[in-house]
Amino acid sequence: MQTRFPFKLLQALALAAALLLAAPLHAQELQPAEKVVLQLKWKHQFQFAGYYAALKKGYYRDAGFVVDIREAQDGIDPVESVLKGEAEYGVGASELALHRARGRPVVVLAVILQHSPLTLIARGGGVKSLHDLDGKRIMLLPQETELYAYLEREKLPRNRIIEVPHSFSADDLVKGRVEALSGYSTDEPYVLKKLGMPYSLFSPRASGIDFYGDTLFTSEALLKRDPQRVAAFREASLRGWQYAMDHPGEIADLILERYGRRHSREHLLFEAEEMRRLMQPHLIRIGHINPGRWRSIAEVYAEFGMLPAKYDLDGFIFDEAVPRDLSRLYRGLAAALLVAALVTLFAWRQALFNRRLRGEVARRREAETYLRDANEKLQSQLAEIQGLRDRLQEQALHDSLTGLYNRRYFDDALERELALARRQHYPVSLVLIDIDHFKQLNDNHGHQAGDAVLQELAKYLTEHSRAGDLICRWGGEEFVVVMPHTPLSGALQRAESWRSSFAVHPFRFSGLVLNNTLSAGVAAWPGDGDTPQELLRAADRALYRAKSGGRNRVESAPQEGQPC
Ligand code: GH3
Ligand code: MG
Ligand code: MG
Repeated sequence: MQTRFPFKLLQALALAAALLLAAPLHAQELQPAEKVVLQLKWKHQFQFAGYYAALKKGYYRDAGFVVDIREAQDGIDPVESVLKGEAEYGVGASELALHRARGRPVVVLAVILQHSPLTLIARGGGVKSLHDLDGKRIMLLPQETELYAYLEREKLPRNRIIEVPHSFSADDLVKGRVEALSGYSTDEPYVLKKLGMPYSLFSPRASGIDFYGDTLFTSEALLKRDPQRVAAFREASLRGWQYAMDHPGEIADLILERYGRRHSREHLLFEAEEMRRLMQPHLIRIGHINPGRWRSIAEVYAEFGMLPAKYDLDGFIFDEAVPRDLSRLYRGLAAALLVAALVTLFAWRQALFNRRLRGEVARRREAETYLRDANEKLQSQLAEIQGLRDRLQEQALHDSLTGLYNRRYFDDALERELALARRQHYPVSLVLIDIDHFKQLNDNHGHQAGDAVLQELAKYLTEHSRAGDLICRWGGEEFVVVMPHTPLSGALQRAESWRSSFAVHPFRFSGLVLNNTLSAGVAAWPGDGDTPQELLRAADRALYRAKSGGRNRVESAPQEGQPC
């Protein structure tokens, strides 16, 4: 049975595979890109390098986001922005735990700075220890809780210092308007170094307060609504951070080009190096969150009365085990299965095709063999026909009883011989032979005896002919012999020898002894005629003369009109 190849199925599978393969690899790509706002906690600088890198390198775009990275503005608090929905994501620090414990639903997604860069920067020279700040003017920000905790732990409570609103200018320190200010170890020291001003750094870590630094966060509401999108944003951001820390020069240039020249390239790279110290990316995976660290941060807050003794941090830390979008994997698997099915179908189709091809080849070979055999048969039949035709042609020119040339052949041959003789000037003779009383022989001994005598005479003439002689059966019991290069006299002699020999040799047939004689008339060219007809007539006259002369004789031709 012929198996039909399912082309329709193959087409459908190919189409499905093509659609699956052509489909966007991320489910998000099927939807329009999502616009989100990332609210920074400070001005554009290397502190946020990872987010710029994620945007620049297309990691956000690949994850389906269009991200608006907003720097800090007066009166804008990232926590407020995120909770109000003005921004989807924000950059905060350890105070996020304080917010959460106070019932503000923020969720930390990734810790970028494993140690806080926040520090007290004091004028050098005069300030040797933290206690030298006792009663001094210090610029602090209210949200810098870890510094307040630090001062508390170092027994320098707020009432012992003079808090001055922050001007965000190192100039106040340089000019001596304040004795210390809060700042980032990653940032302000660069300015002071540049100015050649001596300074001291007092980090809360000195008193065991090791807070987290910059931390990416979102609202609990957003996380609940779409955990996969939040996970995708976090992942794209961390890819950006990895890139930024691997290529700080490139990102410093990007900041200068796209985000302003507030800091010099050298300043940005100083920041990058300080951040590397606080991030320790060679030791800790970028973004890593240690829940224990958050607990100890909260405990510090509780210790200094910023949190009640019983606080709740449940749901504060993003669970990395959030179910991932597996549609890409499933689509990949489906496409792989379809491709496998396609390959199998193609192989099957090829096998069918090969089988058909083999069948076709065998059929063609068979047909070729048949045609070759038929051709061979035809060729042999043609050869047979050719032989037959040759034989028929031969028969048409020969006498069937004696095998001698017949009269038809003779007429042409005599014409040729005579023409040649005339051209080449040699004599030609013609001998007309007739068996005597042949009718009587037939009558007496039967037709077969007569045939045998005819055959015997033909044989005799053939045996006694010369090269160039032409012997024919003229008809009935009459024979004619053409002798080229033979004059009349020669022909008369040879005819005479045949006659005498025939007369004395009895012929035996079927127990009979037959004694026959023959008469012959001889004519020659030149002399007896110029055309075959004239020569034949002359030979016939000569024969008639022999018959009328008593038979068993050889005569030459009398001239025309002469009595025989
Ligand atoms: P003549 O001496 O005058 O020649 O007498 P004849 O009998 O030979 O001549 P005629 O012409 O009267 O007879 C010739 C005979 O030859 C008549 C015919 O039956 C016979 N004949 C012709 N062809 C054949 C043949 O093929 N076979 C046999 N057996 N007889 C033949
Ligand atoms: Mg005759
Ligand atoms: Mg005769």
